[in-house]
Amino acid sequence: MHVIGTAGHVDHGKSTLVEALTGIDPDRLKEEKEREMTIDLGFAWIKNKDHQEEIGIVDVPGHRDFIENMLAGVGGIDLALLVIAADEGVMPQTREHLAILDLLEIRGGIVAVTKIDLVDDPDWLELVELEISETLSNTVLENAEIIPVSAVSGKNIDRLLESIWQQLSNIGEKPDKGQPRLPIDRIFSISGFGTIVTGTLIDGHLKLGDQIEVQPEGLRGRIRGLQTHQTKIEMARPGSRVAVNLSGIAKNDISRGSVLTHLGTLSPTLLCDAKYNHLIDTSFPLKHNTEVKFFVGADEIVARVRIIGDKQINPGQSGWIQLALRQPIAVARGDRFILRRPSPPATLGGGLILDPQPGRRHKRYSGQVAQKFSTLEAGSPEDILLLALQRNEPISIEKVYEISGLDAEVAENAWISLTADEKIALINDEAYSSDGWHSLATNLRSIVSSYHINHPLRIGISREELRSRLNLSGQHFNHLLNEIEDTGEILLSGNMVRLPEFEISFTEQQKQRLDQMSTLFLGRGVNSPSVKETKAMVGDDVYMALVDLNRLIQINQEVVYLTDTYRDLERTIVDYLNANGSINAGQTRDILGTSRKYAIALLEFMDSNLITERKGDDRLLKRDSRS
Ligand code: GDP
Repeated sequence: MHVIGTAGHVDHGKSTLVEALTGIDPDRLKEEKEREMTIDLGFAWIKNKDHQEEIGIVDVPGHRDFIENMLAGVGGIDLALLVIAADEGVMPQTREHLAILDLLEIRGGIVAVTKIDLVDDPDWLELVELEISETLSNTVLENAEIIPVSAVSGKNIDRLLESIWQQLSNIGEKPDKGQPRLPIDRIFSISGFGTIVTGTLIDGHLKLGDQIEVQPEGLRGRIRGLQTHQTKIEMARPGSRVAVNLSGIAKNDISRGSVLTHLGTLSPTLLCDAKYNHLIDTSFPLKHNTEVKFFVGADEIVARVRIIGDKQINPGQSGWIQLALRQPIAVARGDRFILRRPSPPATLGGGLILDPQPGRRHKRYSGQVAQKFSTLEAGSPEDILLLALQRNEPISIEKVYEISGLDAEVAENAWISLTADEKIALINDEAYSSDGWHSLATNLRSIVSSYHINHPLRIGISREELRSRLNLSGQHFNHLLNEIEDTGEILLSGNMVRLPEFEISFTEQQKQRLDQMSTLFLGRGVNSPSVKETKAMVGDDVYMALVDLNRLIQINQEVVYLTDTYRDLERTIVDYLNANGSINAGQTRDILGTSRKYAIALLEFMDSNLITERKGDDRLLKRDSRS
């Protein structure tokens, strides 16, 4: 399917020519009829020579004030029909439209010199054609055929049609990336049907009943009806003009420029990295931080330009930019765009989206950033996919395909070769670059090792703290941790992570206090010093270290024992239970020669460790603890 777009100065006869070609009056708005001027997009269609294909025609407004409406329509076209009136020749909007077609790199074009019935002098016509040739040189339309026509007399209309068919058959079909996008250029509602949107479909098919999403709004709905050129269809093909009847989305919730896609295939963005060409006709350079109007697809957004790697971009030069958008948009890599100055309005230049999800603001003069841009501009599919992965990891395969902007098949092949080269680590359903994954491992080890330096009295860092410092999901963290543990570079003990070579070492002074503490504990036996007293004696840090090292066991808020002492007490209770079947708090107190406070603390601790279980006032041995 193909779409033609008209271009040219106001009143040069675009709409009249479309009607002469198709029999359809593209000026659909009443206001247009009254002013006899196309202010919004008009639509018509013709059959090709063998009547096998319908060709859509988008008639764009030529008036200076409405040039921005032209941009909404010109995006998806295959062929431009540049209309120039024979009596006036090349005019300002002829040049401006031509510049836009050039920036958008429209694949083909034909120039129709209209109103030749108004020109008697053949020399005049020759002069006009010469002027046109000069204007077209060094543009995408440089080799375009120039056909003199009259919509009034019908002269050469057949020749123009022949030329259109010929050109379109050379252009071939639109690419099908398997990810349909419909930049919405009109929205209306019809009672009984609800919301209808129109646009030129790119990159894939849409079918009746498809679940769809409108971005950047993120609204979801379903395709209830599909039409192309006022004919009902079951499936719309890439490159066709489509009207979609939506259920589940209200007319007022979306606007021109939004994009209709399948679910989860396109995400909104507030930043875009791009290659930009500044028009040679502008009299000033594009400067850093300039506020511009950004036109892409059928959308128009105010944006600020960040110039990367240079101070400014001079007329006729190209450069790298990052666009910081005032509102989110939905674009893909490879989309073409135009920048205009808001006031006084003028086209500045245009270019190609290199990365629709750069994720962060770039430093302007960083070697790394320059490297990224040149890879995006010239790299292989593998380079581009890997870069998209690295900048967004961890990320699902579908998502990284989307961000890379590569065709589904190209992306898949690049993925296979990256996997074969071991450049990708797939963790559950998400991917990291191998480099990214290895640097996480390096980070993990260095966090553990600096933790040891900063906390010489801690046995290691807790898993949770380590996870949150690495900012990883639980699943990915566990995967990473187990992988590094397998290499023997870290040790896991319970909840703690440490380097294998690390040992807690005490100072001489701390050692002395420890000796005093041990003597005191040994002297007191079951009636041990309290947690508070012990901490006061050795200090909080040392106390924690002793617990981590398993030299002290704290059994509740108040009671703590030397580990050996506790084991003896536990053994005594278990022996008693083996001999007697049950024990209560009073009996425990008596056999250990202590107070109820210690007896109850011990029994509760043993309950919580599943050695004993409570039944009324008694404790019994838990079945699997019996010996
Ligand atoms: P647009 O603004 O480029 O779409 O121009 P229109 O199609 O609205 O045409 C502008 C005016 O030129 C209208 O009054 C048309 O009737 C007239 N016109 C268009 N084509 C021809 C032509 O081939 N011959 C003559 N004599 N008049 C034309």
